[in-house]
Amino acid sequence: MRALVFTGPGKASVQEVPAPRAEQGQVVVDVERAGICGTDMELFGGEMSYYGTGQSSYPLRPGHEWCGTVTAVGDGVDESWLGVRVTGDTMVGCGECPRCRAGRHWVCAARHELGITDGLPGALATQLAFPAAYLHRLPPPVDATLGAMVEPGGNALRCVRAAAVEAHERLLVFGTGTIGLLVAFFARARGVQVHLIGRSETDLALPRALGFAHAWTRSTLPGLPWDGIVDATTGDEIPALALDLIEPGRRIVYIGLSVPPSLIDTRALVLKDVTAVGILGASDGLPGAIEAYADGTVDPRPLVAATVSLDEIAEVLAGNRPPGAGPKIHVDPSKG
Ligand SMILES: [Zn+2]
Ligand SMILES: [Zn+2]
Repeated sequence: MRALVFTGPGKASVQEVPAPRAEQGQVVVDVERAGICGTDMELFGGEMSYYGTGQSSYPLRPGHEWCGTVTAVGDGVDESWLGVRVTGDTMVGCGECPRCRAGRHWVCAARHELGITDGLPGALATQLAFPAAYLHRLPPPVDATLGAMVEPGGNALRCVRAAAVEAHERLLVFGTGTIGLLVAFFARARGVQVHLIGRSETDLALPRALGFAHAWTRSTLPGLPWDGIVDATTGDEIPALALDLIEPGRRIVYIGLSVPPSLIDTRALVLKDVTAVGILGASDGLPGAIEAYADGTVDPRPLVAATVSLDEIAEVLAGNRPPGAGPKIHVDPSKG
């Protein structure tokens, strides 16, 4: 089968690799659609911190935002999975440690992250072997595009829950990339008044086209009380700015990662009685994201600029994005 392989920093090729087998507890999935995100760009470029910690190494097979159909099951897997359309959790825990047993497998010290850490090759391929215990069923309204947007949607939904804003309260979202816009969608679906901040006026065109009239740059941001703030940027100065801006007693949610350390003054956190929350991955947000896409409460399809073939990914990674307004690029591995 064919798979995208990162062979070294800044080097990618589509290779013919052995087709995966469904080992004990696993299924094989024919990949219908997969997304490329910022994490993939960091894995490609070599900036990802996991290379330094030894959790990831080249050659690496990326892809963790995906959907497809189960075509084989291994020992110990219910045959009723055959033919089912699915997506899966990026975070695959050991299943046995106290964190896994407490239902927080996404912070398991022995976890694999699909297509990110070593040991579980990713979904930017025609096929994928994946543990059945971490699959999620996709109901029929969730098409290929929606299916491959479940993973980023789960991240965004976890951010919105963590921000703990009620209907009619005001949420400020830093960042107009996929996660920032998905946070905006999920918050709007709850009746929250959403405000977005982008780096430039140009970045605000898409949010405005999606109906987010409260779209600002740093210089135009009005001085309003913010009942919740989500930082979905890579700016190292944004976490401290968020702490300056947040209403006392409320919550800041951090999902973006900067390359240099992004420091906050905990004295301000104490004196404002603010709760800061970090979000790693989509895990317990996946079922809610699937539900919101299935019932149409959230429709993230306008975020997808284009769907390309495996062979066309190299161009995208090199910075030559196909035309299209959205921040997300999808891949159809069956496309020639
Ligand atoms: Zn991603
Ligand atoms: Zn574990």
